[in-house]
Amino acid sequence: MTGYFFWREKIHQDFGHAYKVELVFEEHNLQKVQIFKNQTWGYFFVLDGIVQFTERDEYIYHEVITYLPASLLKKAPETVLIIGGGDGGVLREIQKIPGIKKILQFEIDRIVFDLCRKYFFRLMGDYSDPRVELNFVDGLQGLKESDTDAFDLIIVDCTDPVGPAKSLYSLEFYQEIHRALKPDGVFIQQASLPAYFPHVLKLALQASSVFPWFDIARVYVPCYGEELAFILGAKEKKDPTNPLQVYYGKYYHPGLNKALFTLPQTWLNLVERRDSELNKGTVL
Ligand code: SAM
Repeated sequence: MTGYFFWREKIHQDFGHAYKVELVFEEHNLQKVQIFKNQTWGYFFVLDGIVQFTERDEYIYHEVITYLPASLLKKAPETVLIIGGGDGGVLREIQKIPGIKKILQFEIDRIVFDLCRKYFFRLMGDYSDPRVELNFVDGLQGLKESDTDAFDLIIVDCTDPVGPAKSLYSLEFYQEIHRALKPDGVFIQQASLPAYFPHVLKLALQASSVFPWFDIARVYVPCYGEELAFILGAKEKKDPTNPLQVYYGKYYHPGLNKALFTLPQTWLNLVERRDSELNKGTVL
């Protein structure tokens, strides 16, 4: 490891987050991978200059991206598809849900998986589990080769659409998700930080033209420095504030659904939507 120095996560030309770190690992292949050590956040993982997760607060992200969609299912999930998620955090949470029969994963970058297995093995799910099938393939490609009406849950835990994840924010991708989802199934995808990168949520809005039920949720993950958006879609109407499946985590609990699906006016404006309850109010 190197001595300590300040590393800057560049958010915009004139703005970023600075961390006093030791460099643990750095390599540039399909993606630039960096692993740093920091007093506050512990070991943390960076792809193409953007923080993906830290040891200190990864559970918030991994619990919400797993339990929020699962809470909307009429019956407990049995078949799950994870796209991305090479750090194994989503798998860890999925494996806590009773009754899961099959977990298929499409991760494009084997190096991410190998490095996380070496440096973040405590955070990873169990890949020796016979229910798990991990394929190192592009998510859209793998999806196209997947069966129709096959999955109760599709969790897209991918990077922002800068590098290899561009194909995962396309109309074709959302149409393939719709084809592969079971009639009662639910899909979720991270849509970045609208306050910093509003274009990502706008891109993900394409999904709203594919799914009869579409909604947006938000969660604050401290290491990202801003609220993160998730988009969710389903073939049948869902009542997001009335969870049908009950899960409790270190962070997530069923009572959170209402808060997670209540959006600020800035986001509603971004997605050109008015909060149905406040429809009659005066626009300030
Ligand atoms: N929590 C993070 C976030 O919110 O940005 C995501 C973390 S996870 C490490 C992101 C994963 O998506 C990476 O392992 C990356 O290799 C994977 N990924 C990116 N593009 C992909 C693609 N087209 N198909 C499958 N996996 C992809």
